Amino acid sequence: SNSTPPNFIKNIITEDLKSGKVKEIVTRFPPEPNGYLHIGHAKAIWINFTIADEFGGRTHLRFDDTNPVKEDVEYVNSIKEDVKWLGFDWEELHFASDYFEEMYERAIVLIKKGKAYVDDQSPDEIRATRGTLTEPGQNSPYRDRSVEENLDLFARMRAGEFKDGEKVLRAKIDMASPNINLRDPVIYRILHASHHNTGDKWCIYPMYTYAHPLEDAIEGITHSLCTTEFEDQRPFYDWVIEETEMPSVPRQYEFGRLNLTQTVTSKRKLKLLVDEGIVDGWDDPRMPTISGLRRRGVTPEAIKAFVFEAGISKAYGEIDLKMLDHFIREDLKLKAPRTMAVLDPLKVVITNYPEGETELLEAENNSENPEMGHRQIPFSREIYIEREDFMENPPSKYFRLFPGNEVRLKHAYFIKCNDVIKDEEGNVVEIHCTYDPETKSGSGFTGRKVKGTIHWVEASQAVPAEFRLYEPLIRDVQVEEGVQLDDEEGGEEKTFMDYLNPNSLKVVQGFVEPGLKDVKPQDKFQFFRHGYFNVDSKYSAPGRPVFNLVVSLKSSFQL
Ligand code: ATP
Ligand code: MG
Ligand code: MG
Repeated sequence: SNSTPPNFIKNIITEDLKSGKVKEIVTRFPPEPNGYLHIGHAKAIWINFTIADEFGGRTHLRFDDTNPVKEDVEYVNSIKEDVKWLGFDWEELHFASDYFEEMYERAIVLIKKGKAYVDDQSPDEIRATRGTLTEPGQNSPYRDRSVEENLDLFARMRAGEFKDGEKVLRAKIDMASPNINLRDPVIYRILHASHHNTGDKWCIYPMYTYAHPLEDAIEGITHSLCTTEFEDQRPFYDWVIEETEMPSVPRQYEFGRLNLTQTVTSKRKLKLLVDEGIVDGWDDPRMPTISGLRRRGVTPEAIKAFVFEAGISKAYGEIDLKMLDHFIREDLKLKAPRTMAVLDPLKVVITNYPEGETELLEAENNSENPEMGHRQIPFSREIYIEREDFMENPPSKYFRLFPGNEVRLKHAYFIKCNDVIKDEEGNVVEIHCTYDPETKSGSGFTGRKVKGTIHWVEASQAVPAEFRLYEPLIRDVQVEEGVQLDDEEGGEEKTFMDYLNPNSLKVVQGFVEPGLKDVKPQDKFQFFRHGYFNVDSKYSAPGRPVFNLVVSLKSSFQL
């Protein structure tokens, strides 16, 4: 969707424009390049780009790369690709690390004003003296160092005179503040580590909470939109802007993060799935990453319709994964050609069909979208049907093929089962049928009716194909065991790793129509009675396609 539903952020922006507080709207999407983007990020991307656009504003893509240890250019490149694929175009591209010099200068401004000091306490000591929600923290013994001494020590921190953890620079605010984030937060730490952008130029790095407001101010961001876990940081955000005397004043606003049932949305946890080999990479079609969704066959349009429906509010909520499925079906319904695929083949010989003959039957490509036209599919004496569409001893209400019963072959004829051929162990290997030429599809035959319609593929020209069938990676533990998996903490004793779904991937071999021999990665189809499938970009080979299940056809989901 190219707009956002009515929401509190738009109301704020409307007011800000009306009052003259801002002249134009500038937002940013600020990922840390420490992993691939996931569906939660899609919401943040959509909000930032779409809201700015609704007010004729602009959006920056900024890599928040202030932590050298976990960041990598592979992630930088994947993030750019994913944002573009979603259909968004940034006005400016920035790296927070390009501002390290300015951030350093602004820290000196703080020191000179007596608003920052070098602390020699260890990280453990600093943590232990922070206090609690009910107890104030304790001042550091180094808190009252002179400006001169602080300037000297900070310069020597930069020059590499100290080891990691030996010293930090802290903001000097209030160790008794009811907001723990204001109890002299650390703003610089020593880290002798190479950075993907700045190399070995720096051995001190700014902390995220200090760096982020400066990045926003440097770029002239007007509305800094983030998720509600940063709400308690807002006072420090404003403190940094004011005390460092930044000429431009961005404001932070928080919206609720996107949480989905049976879904992990944390780069750290997704990385664990990759590193442990539970999935075959960040773009495994089971991953909730943008690249995984893309490889699976989900479209940007479906993702955007989904986040639109999820809405923009401050409330915490978990959205049913089935809602995403709903929007995928909605988007593919009219776009994907409908063809036949047999995933578990059983050979059928039509004994009264002339040997060696093949005819071409006309089939519509999408019964709901006539513009997609028609194709021709071969029919002959031997076809494959789905193994589950035949039963030797069916229960009542089974209307598919069984001895003596007649069914319709989609786009073709009625066939009637006469014989069952078994191997030595008694497994059904082939069934023999007769067809009635009068019943050809489209001929207007009304002589008699059948209750079941099944799909098929002509055997001699069928294209062998692999089908990869997916279920969510995480079991529905809330339904199964009443367990609430807290996405951030992973529960008390058990984590999401204890609830992996052993059936999340099933690989089967079958056949598709001959017209699908030369499909390309990302081509999408609806396979009659099965669901929507996408050609896999990693495993498909010329003439031997591999199809990923995007989503099944059935849904119990109601909006
Ligand atoms: P993760 O915990 O997965 O690493 P993050 O919040 O640390 O996510 P960043 O790269 O720092 O990831 O996030 C970039 C932006 O995306 C931030 O503004 C963040 O608020 C937003 N974001 C991250 N996860 C979600 C989510 N589930 N829903 C909405 N926005 C999100
Ligand atoms: Mg982060
Ligand atoms: Mg995070």
